[in-house]
Amino acid sequence: MTVVLVVNSGSSSLKYQLIEMSDERVLASGLIERIGEASGVVTHKRGDERAERELEIGDHDAAFDIMMQNFAEHGPSMDDAKPVVVGHRIVQGGRRFYGPTIIDEKVEMDIEELIPLAPLHNGPNLAGVRAARRVFANIPHVAVFDTAFHTTLSDAASYYALNREVADKYRVRKYGAHGTSHKYVSEAAAEFLDRPYDELRTVVLHIGNGASACAVDGGKSIDTSMGMTPLEGLVMGTRTGDIDPAVLFHLHRKAGYSVDDLDRLLNKQSGLLGLTGTNDVRDVTARAAAGDEAAELGLEIYVHRLRHYIGSYLVALQGADVIAWCGGVGENSVEVRKRALAGMEWLGVELDAERNEARRDGIREISTDSSRVRILVVPTNEEIEIARQSLEATGVPAAQ
Ligand code: AMP
Repeated sequence: MTVVLVVNSGSSSLKYQLIEMSDERVLASGLIERIGEASGVVTHKRGDERAERELEIGDHDAAFDIMMQNFAEHGPSMDDAKPVVVGHRIVQGGRRFYGPTIIDEKVEMDIEELIPLAPLHNGPNLAGVRAARRVFANIPHVAVFDTAFHTTLSDAASYYALNREVADKYRVRKYGAHGTSHKYVSEAAAEFLDRPYDELRTVVLHIGNGASACAVDGGKSIDTSMGMTPLEGLVMGTRTGDIDPAVLFHLHRKAGYSVDDLDRLLNKQSGLLGLTGTNDVRDVTARAAAGDEAAELGLEIYVHRLRHYIGSYLVALQGADVIAWCGGVGENSVEVRKRALAGMEWLGVELDAERNEARRDGIREISTDSSRVRILVVPTNEEIEIARQSLEATGVPAAQ
């Protein structure tokens, strides 16, 4: 048995999965939420069994101790499972990390040094790495970066038209995000269609609460909608996505918004939430169907931006073989997929209405038989991708 522990450590949460790699079976998974708050929530799942409790969780070190308690109490026992590597999700690897990297002191320092480029993410990611290395001191830890898949972007696609001296001094450029998911989904699409990955042109639409699009040409990301940070691009649950930066000057000068106010407004209080009062696409589409005007407009703005990026990436790829939907919205919202792909028959994109509505687990095709561009729903699995890459970095085979 070759077992990998995957850790995704956020600012107030810690997610983990213990995966048996010969058949990529999840042995157990868990979520520790509200770290640092008065009352935290801990969930641990093993097969059909689920244990939940509430308690105060001071910091990431405490969260790791709780994770270990969960395994000790609810199994599987870490002594039996014996993970060979811990894989960590790290959001920002800058232009320093091009693939999965075994973590040592120097790599920890590099991740720390990149915090200014991803203040909301890299700090908490690193706290998880440090806590995990304390608990699992004798096995390798691997950093899998969200940005790594996008390091293949050309300079033309990744530089902004910002003063070059300023850009270089402060490392301002498009780094993208969701790379682990874009890679997993584009690869899974190629496998599903039985086509060579290095020949396939795929538009991946990872649409969840956070959302990004990616143009993948023969296994390489050539453009993506998130930017220096995950704020750029598509309209998201609570983020604006693209916006004229002069809006910020305007709000500062006219309404006295501080930098922190603007950060909060654009990242947390906008997007679908700011437009409709909810960031849940289920509610927005239900309300729109019932005639709610704000919900209808919110949905239209959301879809308008999606279509903008789909069109742009079809051009970047000089036509696509596949459009692959993933993420909570992409995998589940019949309405968003329908609106986003409407009227594209002239581009060879033909959605099959019935297939779009059919619900099924796993990868499924939702285009018509005559569609030149195959349209797929591909449930993403970032944890499996992190586990695969972590194992690969250590050189341990999946089946021993
Ligand atoms: P994610 O961030 O990928 O977990 O996606 C979460 C989002 O997916 C939620 O906020 C919902 O907006 C959306 N979502 C989940 N289930 C559905 C569904 N059945 N129909 C439409 N949207 C959904």
